[in-house]
Amino acid sequence: MVKGRCDCGQVSFEIDTVRDTVTVCHCSKCRRLSGHVWASTHGQFEKLKFTNSAGLKWYISSDFAKRGFCQDCGANLFYRQNDEAGIGIAAGCLDAPTGLKLGKHIFVKDKGDYYLIPDEEIQIERY
Ligand SMILES: [Zn+2]
Ligand SMILES: [Zn+2]
Repeated sequence: MVKGRCDCGQVSFEIDTVRDTVTVCHCSKCRRLSGHVWASTHGQFEKLKFTNSAGLKWYISSDFAKRGFCQDCGANLFYRQNDEAGIGIAAGCLDAPTGLKLGKHIFVKDKGDYYLIPDEEIQIERY
């Protein structure tokens, strides 16, 4: 069982399993919304069980996707495309040990200019 929560606890959840790799997105939207880069794993939305959703709000971030965040502490927790059966789950909100490994970097062409990505990690220009 994988468990996660926002900082204040007004959003908490559990899910039986998530993808064991983390994708780091460097697109400008993810960078603005997260404050740096958006690092997430992925799970089945119907398997996601909220143990507290009092703080959960969805922000329509584009015409094809929305972001779930905590309206109390501001934690950036979820990414979901409108027609998607899955859901992106922030790796940083999961309880340790996560057992996850960094898988790849995406939208590298949009990355910020103030940091480097290690050469040995997989980098994809767009998606
Ligand atoms: Zn919170
Ligand atoms: Zn992104």
